[in-house]
Amino acid sequence: MSLQLAPYAATDATCRGRRHAEPPPAYRSEYQRDRDRIIHSSAFRRLEYKTQVFVNHEGDMFRTRLTHSIEVAQISRSIARVLQLNEDLSETIALAHDLGHTPFGHAGQDALNACMRELGGFEHNLQSLRVVDTLEQRYAEFDGLNLTFESREGILKHCNRKAATALDEVGARFLDGSQPGLEAQMVDLADQIAYNNHDVDDGLRAGLLSLEQLNEVDLFREQYDEVRARYPDITGRRQVHEIVRRMINRQIVDLLETSQQCLREAGVDSIDAARAHGERLIRFSAPMQEANLQLKRFLRENLYRHYRVHRMTVKASRILRDLFDAFMVDPRLLPPDHQHNVRRLEAEEGDAGRARAVADYIAGMTDRFAMLEHQRMFDTRE
Ligand code: MG
Repeated sequence: MSLQLAPYAATDATCRGRRHAEPPPAYRSEYQRDRDRIIHSSAFRRLEYKTQVFVNHEGDMFRTRLTHSIEVAQISRSIARVLQLNEDLSETIALAHDLGHTPFGHAGQDALNACMRELGGFEHNLQSLRVVDTLEQRYAEFDGLNLTFESREGILKHCNRKAATALDEVGARFLDGSQPGLEAQMVDLADQIAYNNHDVDDGLRAGLLSLEQLNEVDLFREQYDEVRARYPDITGRRQVHEIVRRMINRQIVDLLETSQQCLREAGVDSIDAARAHGERLIRFSAPMQEANLQLKRFLRENLYRHYRVHRMTVKASRILRDLFDAFMVDPRLLPPDHQHNVRRLEAEEGDAGRARAVADYIAGMTDRFAMLEHQRMFDTRE
C-alpha cells in the first residue's frame, strides 16, 4: 500500500499471524490475501440471496446482505483512508462481518437461537467466525480460510464470556476487557451507519415509512429541511436520496472528527496501545450517538415492528423451526455431507453437537433455499 499509515494502524509487521502458519504472500499484503479469500468463499456469494429486513423475493431494489456488506466496505475504506488506518484490513472485516447470518435476517437469527436455547445457542457473530475458521472447506492444508488474527478479531464484534472462554486468543478481549484494533472499532460503526440509513431508504421505498413519520427523527428532519430549502422542486426518490446521502455524510464526518480528536488526546502510538486503551478511540460525538439512538428506536418501532415485516418475521421463524425440528429428529433427512457433520459433532458433544451441525446447515441457507427446502420437506402436494 502506497499510502502512509498511522503508527496505530494494523500492518503486516505487527500482524499476529494465522492459526496455521503460511509463508507471507509474494505480491499482496496479509490483509489483501484475507480479503481475496473472503471474496472467493461460498459464504460470501450466498450473501446475495440473504436479507436483513426485507425477504429477498420482495423486490430487486432492496438491499441484500451482499450489497449491505459492499456499502459497509465503501464507508470503511473512506474512513480508513482519512484516519490512515489499514484500508485492506478494514475492507476485509466489512466484507466478512455478516458471513454467519442466517436466512431471513434478524428473524432467522432469533428463531435459530430459540431452537438452540438449551443446546449452546446461536449467535450470528460467532457463526461468522465459525464460517471463516471452520466451515469453508477449500484449502488442502486447513479447514476454513485461515485468516489473520486481526481479521478474525474484527469479525467477532461481540461475544459472551462463556463463548469467549471456548475460543483461542481471539476471545481474550471479552474476558480481560481490552479493545479490538482500530480497524475493527471503525468497521463496527461503519456497519451501523450503513444499515440505519439504508433501512430508512428501503423503508420509504417499500412504503412502510413515510416522510411525515421520519420527520420525528432529528437526523432526518435536519437534512430534509436543508434539501427542501436548497432544492424546493425535487420530490420522490431523488429527494429521498439527497436526504439519505446527507445523513450518511454527517455521520461519517462526525465520526472522523471525533475520532481524530480522541486519537490525538490519547496519544496511542501502536495497535497494541490502542487495544490496551481503556475505551474505544473510534467513536461518534455524544450528540451524534444520541441522534443515532433516536433513529434506531424509530426504526425498531416503525419498521422492524411494522405488521407487514412482522408477518414475514413470523413466517420465517416457522420455516426455520420446522426445518430444525425435522433434522434434529431424523438427521438422515440431511444431504450426505451434513449427515457426516452431524455424526462427527455428535460423537464429540452429544445432542449439542448434533444441533450445531443442523444449525450450520440451516444458517448457511439463503432465504429462497430455506423456503424451497421447507416446501420439499412439508408440502405433500409435491
Ligand atoms: Mg452488518
